[in-house]
Amino acid sequence: MDIIVLSPGATERELKHIVKKLEGRGLRAHVSKGTERTIIGVIGDTSKITEDEENAIRVMPGVEDVMRILKPYKLASREFKQKDTTIDVGGKIIGGEKIQVIAGPCAVENRTVLMAIAGKIKDAGASFIRGGAFKPRTSPYSFQGLGEEGLKYLAEARKKTGLPVVTEIMDPRDMAILVKYADIIQIGTRNMQNFRLLLEVGIAKKPVLLKRGLSATIKEWLMAAEYIMSRGNEMVILCERGIRTFETATRNTLDLSAVPVLKKLTHLPVFVDPSHGVGKWDLVAPMAKAAVAAGADGLLIEVHTNPEEALSDGEQSLRPNDFSRLMKELKPLARAVGREI
Ligand code: PEP
Ligand code: MN
Repeated sequence: MDIIVLSPGATERELKHIVKKLEGRGLRAHVSKGTERTIIGVIGDTSKITEDEENAIRVMPGVEDVMRILKPYKLASREFKQKDTTIDVGGKIIGGEKIQVIAGPCAVENRTVLMAIAGKIKDAGASFIRGGAFKPRTSPYSFQGLGEEGLKYLAEARKKTGLPVVTEIMDPRDMAILVKYADIIQIGTRNMQNFRLLLEVGIAKKPVLLKRGLSATIKEWLMAAEYIMSRGNEMVILCERGIRTFETATRNTLDLSAVPVLKKLTHLPVFVDPSHGVGKWDLVAPMAKAAVAAGADGLLIEVHTNPEEALSDGEQSLRPNDFSRLMKELKPLARAVGREI
């Protein structure tokens, strides 16, 4: 049900006109006249009212406000599906009791470095390996990634370690080669509202790690998930990675409150990426711990064997030793919130 609040001076004629309009859309109006205000409760399937139609009602004479009770996203909503979604990726369950950790370099740089990192993160207890082969760099002069060659190295790292691969897609034209190598397709922050790309991964038969747009509200983020799900792919994992605020002490502001908020609004698994969230390696561990405490289903952490030589995001990458220590420190924390890691 939606609610229409009439302005104090609304006339009987205006009220009738609004009621007629609703009835014309197959809805019924429940009119409640108070001493100060008249309120209309809209009864029927209001999910079919588009945002444009809602705005048209908003400007009708006599209307002060329109409040939607039903969420604009449906498939992603907790109302639609109460039970938490779990996603099985090669026997690793995302969204279950175990907190899954995706680790690896920002970008796949070359075969030797990737293989070295893969061995280290596996030993430390990571469940997935990550690495960008197509990098969304702010500068066109920065390293753009190895493309398919990088994907091949990721597949080799998977063979060596058994860790499934998470890697980013930037262009719908790369879909065919990406699905050949990736176990989870990542949509980066800059593409969260690239609707063509969202629809494209919506027909893929692979889980999608959907990062939060750098200035996206939680509602916009869930609408992006809805795009993917509306095409039939319900294997969507949300990943908080920091949003843009006025603060400059950290690269972004990691919005950890998004985790419990999302847990209320959606059944989809929620991950946290403290690496991009803070942008500084020494702040990654405390925020990873806070993410686990907040109820995250997984973490995404950038790890590099030689951060000072990294071609991207070296300043926020953990060395294998620090990553390994963090994994150990997370264990009692996970237990404290009824999870394991
Ligand atoms: C990444 O995961 O390396 C990345 C580019 O992340 P984001 O899209 O969150 O900036
Ligand atoms: Mn990165």
